[in-house]
Amino acid sequence: MIPTPFLTGKRVAVMGLGKSGAATARALLASGVGVMAWDDDEGARRLAAEDGVPIGDPLVINLAKADLVVWSPGIPHTHPQPHPAAVKARAAGVPVVCDVELLARAKPDHRFLAVTGTNGKSTTTTLLAHVLEAAGIATAAGGNLGTAALDLPELPGDGRYVLELSSYQLELVQSLSVGVGILLNITPDHLGRHGGMEGYIAAKRRLFDFITPGGAAVIGVDDGPCRAMAAELSRLGLRVVPISVEKVLDDGVSAPEGVLLDNGKPVCDLKAFPRLPGKHNWQNACAVFAAARAEGIAAKTIVAALATYPGLAHRQELIATCDGIAWINDSKATNADAVEKALVCYDHVYWIAGGQAKEGGIVSLEKHFGRIEHAFLIGDASDAFAATLEGKVRFTRCVTLAKAVAAARNLAVSDAIPGAVVLLSPACASWDQFKSFEHRGDSFRDLVKGFAP
Ligand code: ADP
Repeated sequence: MIPTPFLTGKRVAVMGLGKSGAATARALLASGVGVMAWDDDEGARRLAAEDGVPIGDPLVINLAKADLVVWSPGIPHTHPQPHPAAVKARAAGVPVVCDVELLARAKPDHRFLAVTGTNGKSTTTTLLAHVLEAAGIATAAGGNLGTAALDLPELPGDGRYVLELSSYQLELVQSLSVGVGILLNITPDHLGRHGGMEGYIAAKRRLFDFITPGGAAVIGVDDGPCRAMAAELSRLGLRVVPISVEKVLDDGVSAPEGVLLDNGKPVCDLKAFPRLPGKHNWQNACAVFAAARAEGIAAKTIVAALATYPGLAHRQELIATCDGIAWINDSKATNADAVEKALVCYDHVYWIAGGQAKEGGIVSLEKHFGRIEHAFLIGDASDAFAATLEGKVRFTRCVTLAKAVAAARNLAVSDAIPGAVVLLSPACASWDQFKSFEHRGDSFRDLVKGFAP
């Protein structure tokens, strides 16, 4: 836990009591801060109250008496409609920040490395932390992923905090000191929350307001918004290290064919690292290489660490290889774009898909249907997916994940195609049959572990 002595004796309102809000309330109370917390969900309020957190509705209490509001980034505070508590706090002139801001104020002399982007944040954050640890640096990773900011451990002075930052968090931070900031990519996402694409790009752009003198901005230049931002920041005199998986860069880190090139010179073949499959992961690896080099870590140490990265659960996670068939859990792939990243990595796919359908379904995947030996459909989306696959890909309606796993196993074993994979990459939300994508992926893992070593 990170103490917040700079707030001792002050009054702080905590809005939202999910993981980060609850951690914030705990840390503040432990530092003798006067806390008043709230969540619109009664269950969350009850849990916090049982933990000794004082509960008070921000719409009822006198918010003007608070010195600060710590806002959970998931709650809209501007678009599409600001929560009335945010309107009230701002009208009362009380600053509204998120927990990352408190971490930054608690550790003004520490070095932060921060990762943002539309996709790949968690992979890149954990990969960078893995490389720093391998280089012997005390490291703690968290923020938007895993551990909430104020639940991170205290590090020695030369340690590094590696933070995954969402656009929502970046909007609510003011005083972070970022040694190296990574922006992986920008594609349209969460536009409702940012009032459109411009607002979304502006939120990501905030990361580079926090770069310390001598620091670096690592930016993926394969999409237009990031390319424009890299050019603008270079013009402003910031040290920008561009990365690309589309073309060779003479002045950056690139891997268009999977061989990582530093200023155009080959360093290592990323295709040899099984936990970093696909071009999207090469982008993540290039970003980490660039950031770690900017931190002064030797190339050979970085490459050795890339090779031993264990990967993240639910993202093309290899669970087992059994009867020559690889079983892969990609439960995090809740839309067609994410599924495409996985499909292109394999030539003979027994594909388990379905759940609660997203707009557009799997129509955009048609160009990759040739890679699919057979599809096993589950959940609400079965009819829609069947209609798209009809006449193009053989499929079986399995209804449940357990039946899909059994059917996929039977067929893949009898086909015995070398290099075959059974891929759970649902292109759907999980909520029709599971509590979360993690629950779905864990269920898949349990089913596979039931027969595989
Ligand atoms: P995030 O934390 O931004 O959601 P993750 O690292 O958890 O990203 O990866 C989630 C999914 O996004 C992966 O399973 C993969 O399908 C896709 N992905 C990962 N890295 C990238 C990338 N650099 N570019 C595009 N898609 C990616």
